[in-house]
Amino acid sequence: MKEIIGDIDIIDNAQENCDVVNITKEEQNIGQKKLYIESYGCQMNFSDSEIVSSILKKEGYTTTSSIEEADVTFLNTCSIREKAETTVRNRLSEINQYKKKNPELVIGVLGCMAERLKSKLLEEEKIVDLVVGPDAYRELPNMLDEVSTGQKAVNTFLSREETYDDITPVRLNSNGVTAFISIMRGCDNMCSFCVVPFTRGRERSRDPFSVVKEAQDLFDKGYREVTLLGQNVDSYKWSPEQNNKARLEKTDASEIVNFANLLEMVAEVSPLLRVRFATSHPKDITDDVLYTMKKYDNLCKYIHFPAQSGNSRILERMNRTYDRDWYISKIDRIREILGNECGISSDMISGFCGETEEEHKDTLSLMEYVRYDYSYMFFYSERPGTLAEKKYEDDIPMDIKKRRLTEVINLQRELSIERNQMTIGKTYKVLVEGFSKRSKSQLQGRTTCNRVAVFDAGNYKKGDYVNVLVNEVTTGTLLASAVDN
Ligand code: SAM
Ligand code: SF4
Repeated sequence: MKEIIGDIDIIDNAQENCDVVNITKEEQNIGQKKLYIESYGCQMNFSDSEIVSSILKKEGYTTTSSIEEADVTFLNTCSIREKAETTVRNRLSEINQYKKKNPELVIGVLGCMAERLKSKLLEEEKIVDLVVGPDAYRELPNMLDEVSTGQKAVNTFLSREETYDDITPVRLNSNGVTAFISIMRGCDNMCSFCVVPFTRGRERSRDPFSVVKEAQDLFDKGYREVTLLGQNVDSYKWSPEQNNKARLEKTDASEIVNFANLLEMVAEVSPLLRVRFATSHPKDITDDVLYTMKKYDNLCKYIHFPAQSGNSRILERMNRTYDRDWYISKIDRIREILGNECGISSDMISGFCGETEEEHKDTLSLMEYVRYDYSYMFFYSERPGTLAEKKYEDDIPMDIKKRRLTEVINLQRELSIERNQMTIGKTYKVLVEGFSKRSKSQLQGRTTCNRVAVFDAGNYKKGDYVNVLVNEVTTGTLLASAVDN
């Protein structure tokens, strides 16, 4: 989810959404040690880099956007597909030149790849000084001290409680209008293709009051939209006694806060603060969540609802714990409660182990049924240690995986344009996020359903709510004009 949705050519961006990179911004604090972070993969990783920056800021570090000026360089990595790891390894080879020029430069690998490979990474990538898993960031100051004495440091301990809820993230690359708030960590789902449960540990929910406080602080600073982040937000569950979901379900906890409750609490911060969330697992979304979304105008009418496949046998092999009919019944519920305009997007995997041509066609027919606004689409990439790697053969040849993926992408393109076309001639309230990517004379904002609209700037500015009339559309963008508010 680079930015959940891009401006133009969304589908092409979407395929690469887990391979994007985001770097720290320049701060003008002279004389302090400089931290440079490149974040790869999903928005959870970008959000973690903000926590890391906050932890090191307290130790006197400032961030830089130039690796050449850095004292410490971190790559916050992704393991979701093989390509994501190859990208990081190639980047480490490039970074070698900076280490040669400045042997004092500390190089750390953080995140999922650190967790997956642990100390093996130090053996395989000689320039790396520090390997830190996603639950060990509080240890970074001590680890940097260790490295300053010439040693290498590894900490890949996975916690059952850590949520970093007391840490106020330093906002990196922020547009000052939209921000991400992590509400949970880890995942208990064990989808057979997925490495996340092994790299991010057990599911933990963050204290809802700290989430509301963070949302309130952001609102007070001028932000107008927050996205609540987690691998599986609908399974959010917290009580004052316990934040670990598996343990919580075994206890008689007093006041339980579920995701619908949390949404309501954040919605109440201000009607002017829009609230989004990602990702929803189809097995967990409830009518309560849908009715809460309906109740509050500022809860955005958009759900990222990954199906992964449209075929029940493949879904079972994927260990998704729902089948095609269940998924369709949830889509019907979303449409019944939130209407046809509610934005729905998906993740799809082509060429999973044993997928037949007919089963692939079921994915296409599911897409036609749902009429997704857009999708993040991938071909299956076998990951070491996952259930699928142990149980099934990765037997679909690459050319077939790619051909099926192309069919999925082409269909999604048609659906995206069709969904956008239904907005022509209608007026929508958008929140302005900044200039359009193509021109400084135009602004870009999103509708509640997460459609991107571009329109002439006039006197409007970032952070304004503007009513726009849609005149034309492309696959990824509504071409609109502002109308009187
Ligand atoms: N927790 C979210 C969910 O369940 O939908 C998504 C997490 S994952 C970071 C994002 C997407 O990557 C998944 O939805 C899936 O489509 C894709 N993905 C995960 N493992 C994959 C693999 N081994 N090969 C290809 N795509 C994969
Ligand atoms: Fe991976 Fe499934 Fe958890 Fe998503 S829900 S992170 S796909 S195991």
